[in-house]
Amino acid sequence: MMPVKTTCPYCGVGCGIIATRHEDGKIAIDGDPDHPANFGRLCSKGSALAETLSLGDRELHPLIGSKRAPWDEALGLVARKFSDAIRDFGPDSVAFYVSGQLLTEDYYVANKLMKGFIGSANIDTNSRLCMASAVAGHIRAFGSDTVPGTYEDFELADLVVLVGSNLAWCHPVLFQRLMAARERRGTKLVVIDPRRTATAESADMHLAVRPGSDVALFNGLLRHLFVTGKADADFVARHTSGLEGALAACSAELAPATGLSAQEIESFFTLFAATEKSVTAFSQGVNQSTSGTDKVNAIINCHLLTGRIGKPGMGPFSLTGQPNAMGGREVGGLANALAAHMDIGNPEHRALVQALWSAPRIAAKPGLKAIDLFRAVGDGRIKALWIMATNPAVSMPDADGIAEALRNCPFVVISDVTAKTDTARHAHVFLPAAAWGEKSGTVTNSERRISRQRSFLALPGEARPDWWIISHVAKRMGFAGFDYRSPAEIFREHCDLTQFARDLDLTPMRRASYEELAPFQWGKERFFGDGQFYTADGRACFVPTPWRSPATATIAALPMILNTGRIRDQWHTMTRTKTPRLMQHIAEPFAELHPDDARMLSVAPAALVEVAKGDRRVVLRALLNPRQQRGCAFVPMHWSNELSGNAIVNRLVAANTDPISGQPELKWSAVSVRPVEAAWYGFAVAREKPDCTHLDYWSLAPTERGYRLECAGTRETESFDGVLENVFALQGDKIAYHDHASGEHRFAIFDGDRLEAAMFFARHPVGVSRNWLAAQLAGKNQGVNRLRLLAGRSGEDGPDRGAIVCSCFSIGIKQIMALVAGGQASTVKGVGDLLKAGTNCGSCKPEIGRIIHETSTASAGAAGAAPHRSALGAAGLLRP
Ligand code: SF4
Repeated sequence: MMPVKTTCPYCGVGCGIIATRHEDGKIAIDGDPDHPANFGRLCSKGSALAETLSLGDRELHPLIGSKRAPWDEALGLVARKFSDAIRDFGPDSVAFYVSGQLLTEDYYVANKLMKGFIGSANIDTNSRLCMASAVAGHIRAFGSDTVPGTYEDFELADLVVLVGSNLAWCHPVLFQRLMAARERRGTKLVVIDPRRTATAESADMHLAVRPGSDVALFNGLLRHLFVTGKADADFVARHTSGLEGALAACSAELAPATGLSAQEIESFFTLFAATEKSVTAFSQGVNQSTSGTDKVNAIINCHLLTGRIGKPGMGPFSLTGQPNAMGGREVGGLANALAAHMDIGNPEHRALVQALWSAPRIAAKPGLKAIDLFRAVGDGRIKALWIMATNPAVSMPDADGIAEALRNCPFVVISDVTAKTDTARHAHVFLPAAAWGEKSGTVTNSERRISRQRSFLALPGEARPDWWIISHVAKRMGFAGFDYRSPAEIFREHCDLTQFARDLDLTPMRRASYEELAPFQWGKERFFGDGQFYTADGRACFVPTPWRSPATATIAALPMILNTGRIRDQWHTMTRTKTPRLMQHIAEPFAELHPDDARMLSVAPAALVEVAKGDRRVVLRALLNPRQQRGCAFVPMHWSNELSGNAIVNRLVAANTDPISGQPELKWSAVSVRPVEAAWYGFAVAREKPDCTHLDYWSLAPTERGYRLECAGTRETESFDGVLENVFALQGDKIAYHDHASGEHRFAIFDGDRLEAAMFFARHPVGVSRNWLAAQLAGKNQGVNRLRLLAGRSGEDGPDRGAIVCSCFSIGIKQIMALVAGGQASTVKGVGDLLKAGTNCGSCKPEIGRIIHETSTASAGAAGAAPHRSALGAAGLLRP
């Protein structure tokens, strides 16, 4: 196969990829050196894409209920049920909930069907959870949803301020570009984040603000810039309006609101004021908030006041989480938008779109935004719902309420690559969609760059592209205008429609060869440098953003603030990243707590904790980390019921939204945390998937040759042999070790000389070499090695890498610590030279730096300076 140029499907950086099939049939994935987003780099997730191509979890045939059905019958049923609901209850009785995973062409057809032919705007997207506040903030300030800058601005700036963004883990390739520029030009980096994340570790200044206080901080900065004479008076006078109102709203007392010291505030304000070339980039920590839109505008206000917008190395910059959140915005995939960045509230815009589509009708008012949409499903207003390529039963706030709503919805259609999600189990009809590698279309990254995704694999089974599925349903509903034969035809129609748009003009691309389409940025390289905005009077708007404390104050019964987010090697609800390599870094869901809070709550390291709100609770491994802010708990949002017993954190998050953008507050929930008394803890590795249904606590992760299991029981057991038998129905040659006094019980089961399973029990978190044990599933295990297996660790001569830090080269913490302790390396580069760790994607460099620092400090004998393996995830915590 000739190498195929395509795009990574994970985050908004939008890295170019080259996929090559070798003679042995294996697919190699490499970064595209010519792609202007990544210039050949890939992060740990992108590098592992070849491992996600297996068909193991795929559903390759349409299902009606749980029975396989022909496409014709499944499509006919979907069309009939939607048509019946529209006839009996009106167009607003149906809804689509789509995804930033869809390609622009898929999105375009879904939006056209709903808004132009069904005649409702009840189509919303999981991008509502990701960047709706940025969209609303842009429109309020600029009159259009236009991202002013480019990635290059990160490299040209003298100061980059990251607000609510763990760039090192969530947009790793852009972070590496920033780090490389910093080495060249000494860029200052300020990180504003309640947690000391991997990104904050690399910063010149970390402002650990109180959760939800960003508006107060940026209002204070606006006032400071104004009173210290840093305003660009000419720009403000000629190109903006509303400054007085914005200044009048800046009244909050900064230190009490933000929790920062006067010195910290002063240092940041002075640095920002003095540095003309400054970029302020923001992500989920800003957007996912009940004041998300105000946070965005508070940031933009500071850039407008100083005229730092639309010029090289300057501007506010919205980082999108998903690969095609921007493409969805361009085709109007949000319930309150119209195609081509046009306005659904504008009758002229509606008429233009309707005419180009030759549509029988056009939605005349905004539809239901994600949270309201599922409320309408729950209270019976929505009779037929189609969910495309997303898993709201895990990813939405009030996750249990979403599951309940789906359970009661009269007709639910799911189109996705797998039917094994917590959402898909509620499907009346499942439609098998094409996966990355099989799909063709376009995506737009955070800097407005449109790239092709090209298929390099044949469609397996009966899987079909999303645009094909939607078009065929539309045709069966009796609608003309959906006779597409290829995504290229859809793209051309999309380009046609942009002739009416203000900022988004793709008409020159109409004549370009779709197959040959090279990555290109739409619009100008930078917007607004000329002071021309898309508001009615052409001026940018300062928006008054009075600070409001997030949600309600914590109450005595719920004293902790829960923050949810992402970890380095995982993506969304793990549907596409639960590969052995990516599960090595952090293999178990956790609650990150400050050690002082843990002490007060009597939570021991690596013990289990319950995080609860009302009658809803999750049980997680405690990860004690001094980089966490006191009074706060961080829990990753990735784990679903597939790989854990009770770790869907969004069941604790209330469905509170920003009043303008409708984006839910996922970063601030009042919760309680308490220890869970475990009578015993267990760990196992096994070739076959264990049966976890009997276990009080469990978390599973795939390994190269099988699975690894963390588990615990809350009741004493008479027989660990019995627990073992319940989990593994295995016949074989069993060896065991029992120490009843200490409560340690260990088992290994063999088939001939092949290890089938090993399981370890203790009264405290089990201390064995987890990765070494998982690797033993591949080897032959006889003689002394069997005893080592029962010991749960390698001998002196055996390699034990410890918890994996560098996923690209499988380098573990013990290897790095040994180099540092032995004096062979004292820098990240030195470790890279000797072990290659950090030399591919670079995502692990902040962690390597921390290990070097902590190991060196421990070697020097500093008090209390034992290496903080906790920072490496729950798996690291459990290491002996
Ligand atoms: Fe993919 Fe990583 Fe690039 Fe994001 S940074 S697009 S996840 S390779």
